[in-house]
Amino acid sequence: MTDSETVVVVGVPVDENSSFMRGTAAAPRHIREALHSGSTNLCAENGVDLNTDPRWRDAGDLGSAEEQPSLAQIEEHLDRLLGQGAAVIALGGDHSITYPLVGAHARTHAGLSILHLDAHPDLYDELDGSRVSHACPFARILEKELVVRLVSIGIRAATPHQRQQAERFGVETYGVTDDWSAALASLRPPLYLSIDLDVLDPAFAPGVSHFEPGGLSTREVLEILHGLPCPPVGADIVELNPDRDLHGVTAMVAAKLLKEIIARMLVGPSG
Ligand code: MN
Ligand code: MN
Repeated sequence: MTDSETVVVVGVPVDENSSFMRGTAAAPRHIREALHSGSTNLCAENGVDLNTDPRWRDAGDLGSAEEQPSLAQIEEHLDRLLGQGAAVIALGGDHSITYPLVGAHARTHAGLSILHLDAHPDLYDELDGSRVSHACPFARILEKELVVRLVSIGIRAATPHQRQQAERFGVETYGVTDDWSAALASLRPPLYLSIDLDVLDPAFAPGVSHFEPGGLSTREVLEILHGLPCPPVGADIVELNPDRDLHGVTAMVAAKLLKEIIARMLVGPSG
């Protein structure tokens, strides 16, 4: 990394902690293809041109879909990247990767808050015998007290068990029709952003394993990103399942969100 690099993108091709179907391990490649597709360009809405801006780079994938990194390997790799002073955006992979990603960020950034966009709370104590399932990461994160605050937006499929868990851990939960504007405005650095693409309505993002109709539009998610009171110090975009995608439209949504997050990080505190 050179001194001028401030944002690093890394692919994390993991789907072995998925509960319903595999496929998300192929997502990083599809997001990159969409990002660099000749059908669009690398200009973000705030004017940052990622085609010419030297302050970000793509560090490639950690492991491969065939040789998937363990959660411990993900955390070690993130420790190294964060030790270089960069902000890291991870491309999943299933949502299990957020536990080690946040573990590493919490060591580098004391007093971390998380903004979590998802149809699901992902607060299961365990699912199908696994405590590292993609349905569990925020239970593990909160048990270990890795963050001071978790704000979850777009939640629309919470089981009674997960509602109890949210109560137990003090998760600030917002459904699709709730007003989350005050919660967003109150977010303080250091902030970690975790986006599960199934927060979007399947009409906007059909390439996910768990369809939950009645979700957010692409523009609503962008408005959340653009309205953040501080740039995230780290982020992940997870749960793209290319096997379920239609004409790569969800990969393009993921690439668009990636572009806007990088540009938000590069513009800095004033946004
Ligand atoms: Mn989800
Ligand atoms: Mn999730």
